[in-house]
Amino acid sequence: MRSLLSDKSRNPLIPRLCFGSLAISPLQRQFAPLGGAQLLLYAARQGVTMIDTAEYYQNYPSIAIALREQPDLTIITKSYAWDRAGALESVSKAQREMGRQFIDAMLMHEQEGELTVRGHWDALTTYRELKAAGEIGAVGLSTHRIAGVRAAVKFKMDAVCAIINMDGLGLTDGSRDDMERALMEAHEAGLFVVGMKILGGGHLIGRRNDAIKYILGLNFLDAIAVGMASEAEIDYNVSVFQGNVPNANAARISGETARTLMIEEGCIGCGRCAERCGQGAIIMESGCARAIPERCIRCGYCAAVCPQVCIKIV
Ligand code: SF4
Ligand code: SF4
Repeated sequence: MRSLLSDKSRNPLIPRLCFGSLAISPLQRQFAPLGGAQLLLYAARQGVTMIDTAEYYQNYPSIAIALREQPDLTIITKSYAWDRAGALESVSKAQREMGRQFIDAMLMHEQEGELTVRGHWDALTTYRELKAAGEIGAVGLSTHRIAGVRAAVKFKMDAVCAIINMDGLGLTDGSRDDMERALMEAHEAGLFVVGMKILGGGHLIGRRNDAIKYILGLNFLDAIAVGMASEAEIDYNVSVFQGNVPNANAARISGETARTLMIEEGCIGCGRCAERCGQGAIIMESGCARAIPERCIRCGYCAAVCPQVCIKIV
């Protein structure tokens, strides 16, 4: 399956750079559909034709507009569905809302390991049936854990998307070296391997050159998802992935755009965000949520469960 995704997304100018679209979603920078689409198309015109999204990101409308102009973009999406009905609905929603029947890759979102995959077995089986029917190109999972990568290999999936960065930020069950080994084995087993959170959710922005140099040296990564929310960020990443020195202006502007988690007024102390966060980056204190910024990897999961819509990543 690696060859299918590689062939479709291959661009001799921008090897491996994939548009991480969480950054433009309602969970982060909150682009309107048209604004998000314009940015996706700006990247596509420079050869960044693979988009990493998820049902959870709520940004299919942006991708739909982009696909109308550029129908052959490679779309990797994810779903939390665990049973057959949920999996069918997730695929149908992706097809309906993005306006395209074929989904290049359907991943089970945020899988922790073998047990979690077994709990999602009916969804996995359904995706595989849809792959056999030609509606999905590749089936896999996304994970923050080394055990998740190993499960993808064990259950002979086609693709895996995992956190990897030079400081091992966001990994919850091992070190950076452990993750490197697991991803290398996944690549050798024939899976299409996507690296994500290469800047640790923004923590490595001050050492961005080193972080990208590290990630580009990992030859077992078939694609590298990078969150981008401005033309300057796209320009910068396209340059460095091409091995060029980025334009000074693009480097300056994109380097200023580190994201921060903000909990605004309106918190009712329900605790859902703290429960949802797998990084321990939100605690409840005196009946209100409080962020611990140094632990946050800006995944946006907490923002999506807040009934008061008072969590923002800006
Ligand atoms: S605080 Fe929110 S954005 Fe940060 S790691 Fe936790 S869930 Fe993700
Ligand atoms: S989910 Fe929202 S309302 Fe609930 S504790 Fe967190 S910030 Fe407060």
